[in-house]
Amino acid sequence: MKASQSFLATLKEAPSDAEVVSHKLMVRAGLIRKLSAGIYNYLPLGLRVIRKVENIIREEMNRAGAIELLMPMIQPAELWQETGRWEKMGPELLRIKDRHDRDFLIQPTSEEVITDLARNEIKSYKQLPINFYQIQTKFRDERRPRFGIMRGREFSMKDAYSFDRDAEGLKKSYQIMFDAYTRIFKRMGLQFRAVTADNGAIGGSGSQEFHVIADTGEDAIVYCPTSEYAANLEAAESLALTASRPAATASMVKVATPEKTNCADVAKFLNIPLEKTVKSLLFAVDQEKGPAKLFMLLVRGDHELNEVKASKVPGMAESRFATEVEIKQACNAPAGYLGPVGVSADVTVVADRTVANMSDFVCGANDAGNHLTGVNWSRDLPEPLVLDIRNAVVGDPSPDGKGVVDICRGIEVGHVFQLGTRYSEAMGCTFLDQQGKAQPMVMGCYGIGVTRLLGAAIEQGHDERGIIWPISMAPFEVVICPMGYEKSEQVKVACDQLHDELLAAGIDVILDDRGERPGAMFADWELIGAPFRVVIGDRGLANAEVEFKGRTDADSQNIPLTDIKAKVI
Ligand code: ATP
Ligand code: MG
Ligand code: MG
Ligand code: MG
Repeated sequence: MKASQSFLATLKEAPSDAEVVSHKLMVRAGLIRKLSAGIYNYLPLGLRVIRKVENIIREEMNRAGAIELLMPMIQPAELWQETGRWEKMGPELLRIKDRHDRDFLIQPTSEEVITDLARNEIKSYKQLPINFYQIQTKFRDERRPRFGIMRGREFSMKDAYSFDRDAEGLKKSYQIMFDAYTRIFKRMGLQFRAVTADNGAIGGSGSQEFHVIADTGEDAIVYCPTSEYAANLEAAESLALTASRPAATASMVKVATPEKTNCADVAKFLNIPLEKTVKSLLFAVDQEKGPAKLFMLLVRGDHELNEVKASKVPGMAESRFATEVEIKQACNAPAGYLGPVGVSADVTVVADRTVANMSDFVCGANDAGNHLTGVNWSRDLPEPLVLDIRNAVVGDPSPDGKGVVDICRGIEVGHVFQLGTRYSEAMGCTFLDQQGKAQPMVMGCYGIGVTRLLGAAIEQGHDERGIIWPISMAPFEVVICPMGYEKSEQVKVACDQLHDELLAAGIDVILDDRGERPGAMFADWELIGAPFRVVIGDRGLANAEVEFKGRTDADSQNIPLTDIKAKVI
C-alpha cells in the first residue's frame, strides 16, 4: 500500500467532546469521524483495524466450532412481542415503522431471530449441539453515548448463540466459548480479566464478562489478587456488600461552570434527561462552612425520584459547581485525566481543587472539615448518608474466603451468558429427544464488542505521541518512510523493493510516498501507531543500511536493509 493511494486524515486537535484518550486519538489518527451522537464513520484506517479484530474473532469462533451466518438488522416486532422484550426493552430499542404502519426494530442483539431460525430449522437431537454467530451492526439508543465508539449507539458486535439438548450440554458449549474468548483477547495482546456478572434483563443462570483493564473503564471490577475471585460491581454488591455500605462510582467531568447552578443545569450539561434518569441526588458541599466546593450527582436506575432540587439538600443554601476541575488533586489521577474514578458507573462527580483526593473526600466526609454531606434523595431523606466511594469494597474479605478484595476499572468487551430455556420456552423452540419427546432447546449467548475493542486497546496502548497498537490490531505493521522519494532514484528503488518484498511476505506495509517533511511524517505514524518504522535515505544506503525503530523504542538503530524482513516477521 502506498500512502498516496490510501486516506490518511490525521488531525492536530482532538474534538471538544472527547473525554478519554482513545476517543481523542481515534479521531486525531483519522480512524473515525462523528456523524451524529454515538454514530460514526469508520475511515479506511479504522476499518482496517476493525477487519483485523473481526478476523481474529472469526478464526477463533470457527476453531471453536461455531458457524457464521448473518441475520437482518431490521427485525419484525412480532418476534420480540413473543418474548415480551418489545415492551420490556424501553427507549434503548430503536423502533421503526414501515409504509404499512407495521412495527420493526433495529437489532440491539438477536436472540429472538436466532431462536426463530432454530425452531424452524432444527427438529432432532441429532442436530444438537449447534452454535451460530454473526458479526453485525447493532443499534442501541444509549442514554449517554460517549467515549467515541466505545459507547456508541450504532456499533458492531459479534454475537453467538448456542443450542443444546440439556443443561450439561450448555455448560460445555459455554466453556468452549469462554476458552475461545480467552484466546481472542490474548491474541489481541490485551490485559483483561473475566468476571462474574449479574444476568440482568436478558435472564438466565450463569454469566461472565470480559473486561479490558483500564482506569477509564465505566465498570468497577471487584477482584481478589490472591485468588480466582473476580466479579463486576453489581454481582459483588449482591454477594458481599450490605446496604449500610453502598458502593457508588464516580466519574470526573470537566466543566466550564457557571457561578451558580442547580440540578437542571447539571443534567443539561451532562446531557441527561432530568426527570427520567436522575433517580437520586447525592449530596453537595455546604459553601458557608468550608472552602470545599463539590457537587455530585448520582444517577441510578433503581430508585424513584419525585423531585430534584438542590436547594432541598438539608443544611445547604445552594449547591454549586466548582469553578475549575483540578483533576490530579481531586481524584489522585494523572494531570489532565478526565475519565471516571471511584467504583461505580452511576455517579458523576464534579470536584474542586480543594478536595485533596477522592478517598479523603469520601471517607473523611463530615469529619474532614469540608462539611461534606451526602444525601440519597429518594430513599434516605432527610437522614444524610455519607457515601463511601473508594472504600466501599476495598479491603473486604472475599467472598471465597481466600483473601481481601481490591477494585480496578474495566471496559466490558465481551459477555458470555447461560440463557437456559428462557427464549426457547417463550418461542416454542423445541427438538425431539431420543425418546421422541419435544424438549425446549437449552441456549447460551455470547457477545463481543468489535468496535469497542478498538477504544479499549488504545486505552491500554498509547503515549503522549499517539497510539501503540498490539501488532495483531495495527492498521499497518510497518511503515517505510523515504528521505526524498521523488528526489533520489536510489531511495525510490530501495523503498519500492522493500515494500514489495514485505508485502509478498504477508506483512501489512505502507510506503509513505506523500512527500511530507520527515518531522510531520514521523509524527503522523507515531500518532497512527505503526509498530515498526523504517527510514530509508541516501546516507544510509551508501552503507546498505536503513534506520529501524519500534514504536516504543527510545531510539532508532541502523541496520542492514536486508535484515528488515527478519525484524518484522
Ligand atoms: P454495557 O454494560 O457497556 O452497556 P452491555 O452489557 O449492555 O454493555 P451486552 O448486551 O453484554 O452489552 O453486549 C455485548 C457486548 O457488546 C458488550 O460486552 C460490549 O463489548 C458491546 N457493547 C454493548 N453496548 C455497546 C455500545 N453502546 N457501544 C459499543 N459496544 C457496545
Ligand atoms: Mg448496555
Ligand atoms: Mg454490561
Ligand atoms: Mg453485558
